[in-house]
Amino acid sequence: MTRRDFGGIALGAAAQLGRAQDPGHKIGFAMVGLGRISMQHLAPSLKTSTKCKVTALVSGHRDKAEKMAAEYGIPAKNIYSYENYDAIADNKDIDAVYVALPNSMHAEYTIRAAKAGKHVLCEKPMATTVKDAEAMIAACKKANRKLLIAYRCQYEPTNLRAVDLIKSGKLGTIQAIESANGFNIRAGEWRVNMKLAGGGPLMDMGVYSLNACRYLTGEEPSEIKADWSVIDKDGRFNEVEENIAWSMKFPSGIVASCSTTYGANMPGFYRVHGNKGMLHVEPAFGYQGLRLTANIQGGPPIDEPNPEKDPAQFTREADHLADCIASGHEPKTSGEEGLRDTKYMMEIYKSCGRK
Ligand code: NAD
Repeated sequence: MTRRDFGGIALGAAAQLGRAQDPGHKIGFAMVGLGRISMQHLAPSLKTSTKCKVTALVSGHRDKAEKMAAEYGIPAKNIYSYENYDAIADNKDIDAVYVALPNSMHAEYTIRAAKAGKHVLCEKPMATTVKDAEAMIAACKKANRKLLIAYRCQYEPTNLRAVDLIKSGKLGTIQAIESANGFNIRAGEWRVNMKLAGGGPLMDMGVYSLNACRYLTGEEPSEIKADWSVIDKDGRFNEVEENIAWSMKFPSGIVASCSTTYGANMPGFYRVHGNKGMLHVEPAFGYQGLRLTANIQGGPPIDEPNPEKDPAQFTREADHLADCIASGHEPKTSGEEGLRDTKYMMEIYKSCGRK
């Protein structure tokens, strides 16, 4: 990079930071990938955001993009393909991108966004290799752009209430956690293609349980053991695992047992057992309808259904990125948080003999 290039990026970044700090300015998002999560959840969630809006679309399907552009009032000049994506660098309507592509594509589109001077909200799992996750962090640091990994449960009130109850000591000393999350997958999805998904249900659904055990305990696992299997020999699992179960031991001695599957509908939940009580969140990882129940010695039973409706969780995570851009703070679920889970998932695979 020449001094002139560097100066250009620094000036561009300063101009963007200035705009982002303007209280009236909404962070303009380019949606990268117009699939289920971006079209049915994140984009609709920004309609009610006071801090963010959808200003551009990146898609391999021009017709789909044009339909969505009409709905969101996006001009044709703000529709990009994967080929001319790098030209977002010259578009002042775009402050940030939302990467909602198959898992193995997250790294490339995050790094290209950072090089174009844009902040990134990247879907989970952050990356399919540790090397990719590290390169994403490095690219965003180099460009002085924020990187937020879309761990929406870490901003969600029922999950935060569970963390508070544990931290308050009301459950006593935490001993054990159980968690699971999975679904029965259709044939033909990119999620069962190793090259695109990077792994099976662990990468897609198990990561919720893994991340939850870490935010519930506030600890990092010190030991990991795992097993995997394929039961249904119907072609769906020629490349990725169907089932995987793993246990983790944390430095305090807390033990966690988790499982995930692409072979059965498995509502996402966790149970946390302390020596003075237990809490149960189910559903724990869904878009709405979350519910926390708890039984604590000497107190009345707790039953707290969450009335919040989808897509409120998505507004919250995008707004957090907007706040971080304006304040300069690091996102709560930064690239480093995604990197830690990537490393643990690789350990889980290694422990059960999967590459
Ligand atoms: P999807 O299949 O509905 O959408 C994927 C998008 O990527 C589509 O627009 C597709 O056209 C595009 N694409 C580009 N190149 C492709 C290729 N080579 N093969 C297949 N698709 C390609 O998937 P989704 O459910 O929206 O998932 C996208 C990402 O979001 C994944 O990383 C997933 O883990 C994540 N996700 C997160 C949540 C959450 O709650 N945070 C929920 C669902 C999915």
